[in-house]
Amino acid sequence: MQATNTSNPAYFHKVVDCQWACPAHTPVPEYIRLIGQGRYSDAYMVNWVSNVFPGILGRTCDRPCEPACRRGRVEENNRTQAEPVAICRLKRVAADHKDDVSARMPTIAPFNGKRIACVGAGPSSLTVARDLAPLGYEVTVFDSEAKAGGFMRSQIPRFRLPESVIDEETGYILNMGVRFRGGERVSSMRALLAQNFDAVFVGCGAPRGRELDVPGRQDAAAHIHIGIEWLANVSFGHITSVGERVIVLGGGNTAMDCCRSARRLGGKDVKVVVRSGFEEMKASPWEKEDAQHEGIPILNYHVPKSVEHLNGKLTGMTFEIVRAEYDAKGRRSLIPTGEPDVLLECDTVLVAIGQENAFPWIEPDCGIAFDTWGLPVLGEGTFQSTLPKVFFGGDAAYGPKNIITAVAHGHEAAVSIDRLLNGEDVTHRPPPRTHLLSQKMGIHEWSYHNDVSNDTRFAVPWAKADVALSSIKLEVELGFDAATAFKEASRCLNCDVQTVFNRGTCIECDACMDICPMDCISFTTNGDEAELRTRLKAPAQHTAQAMYVSAELKTGRILVKDEDVCLHCGLCAERCPTGAWDMQKFLLNTTQAGPHCRDSKPKPSTSAAKETA
Ligand SMILES: Cc1cc2nc3c(=O)[nH]c(=O)nc-3n(C[C@H](O)[C@H](O)[C@H](O)COP(=O)(O)OP(=O)(O)OC[C@H]3O[C@@H](n4cnc5c(N)ncnc54)[C@H](O)[C@@H]3O)c2cc1C
Ligand code: SF4
Ligand code: SF4
Repeated sequence: MQATNTSNPAYFHKVVDCQWACPAHTPVPEYIRLIGQGRYSDAYMVNWVSNVFPGILGRTCDRPCEPACRRGRVEENNRTQAEPVAICRLKRVAADHKDDVSARMPTIAPFNGKRIACVGAGPSSLTVARDLAPLGYEVTVFDSEAKAGGFMRSQIPRFRLPESVIDEETGYILNMGVRFRGGERVSSMRALLAQNFDAVFVGCGAPRGRELDVPGRQDAAAHIHIGIEWLANVSFGHITSVGERVIVLGGGNTAMDCCRSARRLGGKDVKVVVRSGFEEMKASPWEKEDAQHEGIPILNYHVPKSVEHLNGKLTGMTFEIVRAEYDAKGRRSLIPTGEPDVLLECDTVLVAIGQENAFPWIEPDCGIAFDTWGLPVLGEGTFQSTLPKVFFGGDAAYGPKNIITAVAHGHEAAVSIDRLLNGEDVTHRPPPRTHLLSQKMGIHEWSYHNDVSNDTRFAVPWAKADVALSSIKLEVELGFDAATAFKEASRCLNCDVQTVFNRGTCIECDACMDICPMDCISFTTNGDEAELRTRLKAPAQHTAQAMYVSAELKTGRILVKDEDVCLHCGLCAERCPTGAWDMQKFLLNTTQAGPHCRDSKPKPSTSAAKETA
C-alpha cells in the first residue's frame, strides 16, 4: 500500500467524522469543547460562521453528523447500545446559553457597486446574503411571505421551533443592511433580470405538495388538505382546529409534523397511514419516535384506494393491504395480500406524500435550462445555471432536502457569485484553509481533555405530554441544562486532535502499539490494502475510514494506524520515548466568499492545496 499523504487535508478532515459528514462542514469538536468550557457565545459564533442558524438547527437539523460520529462506533465495540454524541442538541445549548452576540456579527464593507437579488428568504438565500452583504454587495431578498425564514417559518411547527428563535437568527442577517422585500412574489424572471441585478440567486424552495389521485378526492375536497399548505396555514394562524378523526397520508417528516400538529389542534384519533413498511419510511427515526411517543399510531402497508363521502362530507378512506417483495436487484414492489380492503373513518385527511419543484415564474425562453425532472441544469459544485449570472440553491436546486444542505448550497453559490463578479472562473473552487497545531503542554499533559468519558448519551428533557399536547406553540423539547451539557460534551472524543506520526524519530520500540487501548496501531510488513486490513493488531473493518500507512521504517516494516476507532486519548504520544507521535489540533475552515476565495488575492496555506472534498 502507498504511504499516506497527510499533506492532503482531506485525509485529516475525514478523521473528524462529524465535520466531514456535515454538509456545511461545521467544526463540531471545536464548538463542543467550547461548550464544555462554558464558552457558549464562542461556540455559537464558531457555528454561525458555517451553519448560520445554530438555534434553529440545534432544534431541527437532520443531523447527518450523528450517524457518522465515532463515539457510536467506539461504544458499539464496548456496549450493546451504541450512541453518538448529541451533537445537534449541544448546538442548541450554545444558542440557548449564549450572551448577546450582535456586536460580534461582521462589520459591513462599503457598497462595492454590485447588486444581488435573492428569490425566496429561506436558509439558502439567507446564507447567500450572510456571506455577500458583509463584503459590500447590496443584497435584495424577495419573499412572497411577510417575514423571512422560508420553510423554517412556514412549515416547521412552533412546538419544535419557537418563532423567537427564527426572528433572532434571520434578524442577524437582515440587520446586515440586507434589503428585505417581504410580501413580494417574483412573478417573472425576465422582469427581475430587467432590473439589472449583477447576479440572481434562486432559493425559492420546492413549494408544491404532491396531490392524491384516487376516486372521491375532489368530491370531498373541503376536508382534504395538502400537508405543506395546511402546515403553513397552521403556522400563520389561519387554521386553528381540525376534525376529531384525522388520517395523515405519508411517511416523511412532513407527515410527522402534520400528525403532531393535528393532535394539538383537537384531533383525538390521529393516524399516520403509509404505503411502505416502518423501516422504509422517509421520516427521521426520532421524528417517528416523537409521533409515537405522543400516542399516534403508524399503519404500514396500506395503499390508498378511494375517499369515501356522503354528498361531499368526508366519512373515511379505503385502503388496500399490501406486502413488500424485493427482486434480485433489491427493487421493491408492493403486492396486494388478498386480505379485504380496510375502511378507516375520518373527518379530515392531510396529504403528505411528497413535494415537487415548480418554477411557473421562470419563462421557458429566458435562457435557463431545466432537465426532464423539471430541475435546473447546474454546474457541478458551482450552482450556476445555463444563464451565467443566475444561480440556484437549496430545495430549488436538487429537490427537497433539509436546512443544512440549503445552507451549504448558499455558501457555495456565494463563492461562485463573488468570483463571477470579480471576473474569475467560477469552476475553480478554492481549497479550504487548514491548520495543525500541537496540543502538547507537558509529558502527560495536553491542552484538551483526553480522559475518555464512559457516560452513555444523555436524554433531552421534554415538557409533560399533557401540557405539550394542549398547545401548538409550546416547545416540546426543553434542551440540556448547563450541567448535562457539560457531561454530554465530555463524551466527544476530540476527533480533530489528530495523531501525527514522525517516521524520522520512530525507533520501532512498539510501545505505542502495546499501550493503545483500541489496538489501533500495528507494526507489520506492507501489503495491499484489503489484505493489510485483515492482519493488523485488530482488523480494520470500516473501509469508509482511512488507515494511516507510514513509509518503510528502518527494519523494513511499516507502521499502520486504523483511524476508525481511535479515541484520541493520546496514550501513544505519552508513551513514545522519542516524541514520534504528537497530538495536533486540525482546524479546517471551508472557503467562503471574500478575498480568500479569489485567485487575485493571497492563496491559502500550501498544505491545503490538494484538498479535493
Ligand atoms: C413540513 C416540513 C418540515 C420540515 N422540517 C425540517 C426539519 O426539521 N429540519 C430540516 O433540516 N429541514 C426540514 N424541512 C426541509 C427544509 O425546511 C427545507 O429543506 C429548507 O427550508 C429549504 O430551504 P430553501 O432555502 O431551499 O427554501 P425554503 O425554505 O423552501 O424557502 C423558500 C421561500 O421562497 C419563497 N418563494 C417561493 N417562490 C417565490 C417567488 N416566486 N417569489 C418570492 N418568494 C418566493 C417561499 O415563500 C419561501 O419562503 C422541512 C420541510 C417541510 C415541508
Ligand atoms: S466523538 Fe466528537 S469529534 Fe468525534 S465524531 Fe463524535 S462529535 Fe465528532
Ligand atoms: S490516541 Fe493513540 S493510544 Fe489513543 S486510541 Fe488513538 S492510537 Fe490508540
